[in-house]
Amino acid sequence: MSRIYLNDQDMPKSWYNIAADLPFALDPYINPATMKPCAPSDMEAIFPPALIEQEMSSEREIAIPEPVRELLATWRPSPLIRAHALEKALGTPAKIYYKYEGTSPAGSHKVNTAIPQVYYNKLAGIKKLTTETGAGQWGSSVSYAAKQFGLGCTVYMVKTSFTQKPFRRSFMRLFGANVIASPSDTTAAGREELRKNPDTPGTLGCAISEAVEVAMQNKDTNYALGSVLNHVLLHQTVIGLEAKKQMELIGEYPDIVIACAGGGSNFGGLAFPFLRDKINGREVRAIAVEPSNCPTLTKGTYAFDYGDTAKLTPIMKMYTLGKDFTPPAVHAGGLRYHGMAPLVSAVVNHGLAEAESVHQQEIFQYGVTFAHTEGIVPAPESCHAIAAACKKALECKESGEAKTILFNLSGHGFFDFAAYDSFVDGKVYDPEYAEAAAAASIAQLPKVEL
Ligand SMILES: *Cc1c(COP(=O)(O)O)cnc(C)c1O
Repeated sequence: MSRIYLNDQDMPKSWYNIAADLPFALDPYINPATMKPCAPSDMEAIFPPALIEQEMSSEREIAIPEPVRELLATWRPSPLIRAHALEKALGTPAKIYYKYEGTSPAGSHKVNTAIPQVYYNKLAGIKKLTTETGAGQWGSSVSYAAKQFGLGCTVYMVKTSFTQKPFRRSFMRLFGANVIASPSDTTAAGREELRKNPDTPGTLGCAISEAVEVAMQNKDTNYALGSVLNHVLLHQTVIGLEAKKQMELIGEYPDIVIACAGGGSNFGGLAFPFLRDKINGREVRAIAVEPSNCPTLTKGTYAFDYGDTAKLTPIMKMYTLGKDFTPPAVHAGGLRYHGMAPLVSAVVNHGLAEAESVHQQEIFQYGVTFAHTEGIVPAPESCHAIAAACKKALECKESGEAKTILFNLSGHGFFDFAAYDSFVDGKVYDPEYAEAAAAASIAQLPKVEL
């Protein structure tokens, strides 16, 4: 049997909050205006009360509201699949399982948090949401969720994706969103970036600034973030909670859990329910995989930094390459972020999880092998997890160990054929990590005294 499905009633009823179980204290967020720890009220201009409460919560289980569960049930529980054909192609004794999040309406895990975020904003009387999008996945997810609850939606889309991925833009427009290429001249943050850097391909850091600025200036408008923050990772734990149940059903437990990491939400979502077991003494490895040209966890600094270029978001303790670092315009747009979720940064820093990086050519090689064997064209972001899982499986071939590997297939790649065309045409290259640029950016980190 290769597919393990759960019944609708087995969909999780609560999210899992790892903050309740961490054997260390988390650093507070810092208000960029006062340089003092953030009070919940500091975030009220852009987030609804329920999400601020979740952001700061230390409750272990947080109930998923019924209207949210109903919408999640449009495609959840998502399948867990044993990659028999991939195992055979690799000739590995390892067992490879993947959780497939590409069956969601927008084709990735991001809808798991877009739905509750829009729901809590609607409850708070908010009429419009602004947001940023890198590869277009998050913008598509918010556009879809906003349509379900009747809210308006404006998406600042990183310029390089705006031009590379016209069909992502079409998806958002179909669901009623207003899509603007970032940096744009519609905000002060965008105009400033264009003045300093007229030919920039755009960055997530700048698109976030533009979206936050608009939300701060309009009372009926809030901002939604697709990754990084605690409440986003919380919502994504449906992935790991379901996967654990599915593996239990077939008497399995992973030795290694793997996910790609841009802002850290699908990694946290899959890994945190397993790290709960690890904190309680069970042996399991969790590995976050990032692009070698944007190596936040493997080469960045663990320090306080801004989440965006215009310094509007709270300052967070995280692994960072500095907010002014412009990652090269690679195909995995969803992984082009200078920072990493504070929760993921903390578990890596404390040795509960590990990080690895892979090159762009390598991710496409393994991604194509996966498509040929498993019949699913993966998103370039997800190919990072596939590459790491395959490499672990090949190590098992060397050592003869039959390990059980679980990875998250965070999304499908049906909007990424321009990237696959360039791979097939031999035009995918491996941009160097711009170490000097990152060092210059890291030198600008804010000084925070607690
Ligand atoms: C956005 C995205 C990612 C990266 O975001 P995380 O917050 O690190 O999960 C990974 N895969 C896909 C398909 C995405 O859309």
